[in-house]
Amino acid sequence: MNIVKAENLTYEYIRRDEDGNVEGITTAVDDVSLRVKQGDFVAILGHNGSGKSTLAKHINAILSPTEGTVWVDGKDTRDEEEIWNIRQTAGMVFQNPDNQIIGQVVEEDVGFGPENIGVPTEEIWERVTESLRAVGMYQFRKYSPNKLSGGQKQRVSIAGVLAMHPKCIILDEPTAMLDPNGRKEVIRAVRGLNQVEGVTVILITHYMEEIIHADKVFVMDRGKIAMEGTPREIFSQVEKLKALRLDVPQVTLLAYNLQKKGVPLPDGILTTEEFVKALGL
Ligand code: ADP
Ligand code: MG
Repeated sequence: MNIVKAENLTYEYIRRDEDGNVEGITTAVDDVSLRVKQGDFVAILGHNGSGKSTLAKHINAILSPTEGTVWVDGKDTRDEEEIWNIRQTAGMVFQNPDNQIIGQVVEEDVGFGPENIGVPTEEIWERVTESLRAVGMYQFRKYSPNKLSGGQKQRVSIAGVLAMHPKCIILDEPTAMLDPNGRKEVIRAVRGLNQVEGVTVILITHYMEEIIHADKVFVMDRGKIAMEGTPREIFSQVEKLKALRLDVPQVTLLAYNLQKKGVPLPDGILTTEEFVKALGL
């Protein structure tokens, strides 16, 4: 079952002058077709301006296709009557947690979403509790969000989305503004949602280390899907990644360089453990 399906999706940003005449067109997403299976952890990579955020905004029905179609849980995102349904099915987490947290108290903030859609009060509290537990923030439920670190705030934003009981969460560079510790906390929480709660995850990130556990990776370049495969398939292609101006995990690069020098190592080593094992240490 595909939770997200895009067929020949194209999106153009149109710039107009004061008189409304078209000044320029940017094709941000260019004829993209992709499928995301329910329950998968999918990562989207690509350098700045490659169209990742524009694609993500289609999955949440924030943007509507210029051409082509996007279905979320079988519903066409163009269908006005399904918009709220789609936003509930596919929740979105953005880069800056400060723009997403509105409550004065953590538990209140997490409860806003369900309250807005008319969930009965008792159930709101159940959802708040379970969502905060899922991201490891339950002990901070009475805190003011101002008192939290970036990683903690971002986990509260994720809990807020989770409280809507989405089938899918799209995270658009959720760790870009965080320190290494905050990044780890957030990624651990996101992996938990996927593995324990069974939520489909679509993670957009610049950090290669964050995607080694993904079921599938899409690499975008100039609005198109340039590569698609498992992390190992993707990271075996070091030269291609470099050509797309992307990094590879440090250990993968090291193994690749040693391999080029004649050290017998398999392609696409992703972790230090694999590397050590492959070296026979
Ligand atoms: P990414 O998230 O991979 O950095 P984006 O989807 O943000 O890429 O951007 C893709 C392209 O669309 C870029 O060329 C960017 O400049 C352009 N773009 C993004 N948002 C807008 C906008 N609101 N108006 C006009 N052009 C935009
Ligand atoms: Mg972006």
